[in-house]
Amino acid sequence: ATPIGLLVGTGRGAQLGILIRGPQVLEDTRKLDTIVLDKTGTVTTGVMTHLGTEAIDGISPDEALMLAGAVEHHSEHPIAQAIAKAAAELGPLPQASGFDSDPGGGVLGMVNGHHVVVGRHSWLELQGTVLDATAMAMLEEAEQSGATAILVSVDQQFQAVISVADKIKDTSAKAIGELQDRGLRVVLLTGDNKSVATKVAAQVGIKAEDVFAGVFPADKAKAITALQEQGKVVAMVGDGVNDAPALAQADLGIAMGSGTDVAIEAADITLMGNDLHQVTQAIDLSAKTLSTIK
Ligand code: ADP
Ligand code: MG
Repeated sequence: ATPIGLLVGTGRGAQLGILIRGPQVLEDTRKLDTIVLDKTGTVTTGVMTHLGTEAIDGISPDEALMLAGAVEHHSEHPIAQAIAKAAAELGPLPQASGFDSDPGGGVLGMVNGHHVVVGRHSWLELQGTVLDATAMAMLEEAEQSGATAILVSVDQQFQAVISVADKIKDTSAKAIGELQDRGLRVVLLTGDNKSVATKVAAQVGIKAEDVFAGVFPADKAKAITALQEQGKVVAMVGDGVNDAPALAQADLGIAMGSGTDVAIEAADITLMGNDLHQVTQAIDLSAKTLSTIK
């Protein structure tokens, strides 16, 4: 392929809001057979809302939400923003100190002299909370409803489950169909729970066996490697800090323009419209550019 033709292709991409790092990227795009999609912020809007809180006896749901909100206030995760916002609507948030977080697990901090941990169940366990049958039943019930269920513990004692959810982007189902029409296998890769992930997948036409759920940030890149070891040529589409290693590992990394700087830096292509339809456009652009200059 002539460099001039490829440069014209990248210029056309820019007009479409598809920022392509270099001419070589268009050649790589043509070889793809598998597209791996992050869920939150990529297939879905990434704007979470608080659906409800269930607490054990001895603490009110609002109290539990306030404690969680005080800690989540220090995190930029979409789940944290939903919880902090809902809590702040109840009244001024108490101060939290000693904040720490695991981007794929949750947060912790001290609030009013109490050690508060908020996040997925493995994160609470890692911080020393034993989840008993009541906790597991409350978690399961929230997840069954299709929500992302976030657990709260205070001084190592389980207290509440907070349910949050976001919406699938209007454009996602159609765009995924377009990719599948081009013979590409579309895979959903997420840190979120299996129940939410399967529900989202069903709504956008991704097969249940192509859903990889509950994947820790460090394992997202390993999932890409595993596909590559099967001989697949893989594009990863994501937006989060967590997605950056997977974006770098993929044969082609594609970041949402609304995504974090770390994701954009790790990517070969950035989609300014935050729309999966732009993935199809990039693939078509690559095919067209290369056929024209042959
Ligand atoms: P995704 O792959 O869908 O973008 P993440 O890897 O960002 O998901 O997060 C995976 C899971 O870790 C979330 O579903 C949630 O259970 C938990 N988690 C991460 N950060 C937070 C936080 N700030 N507060 C609560 N839970 C969190
Ligand atoms: Mg994401």
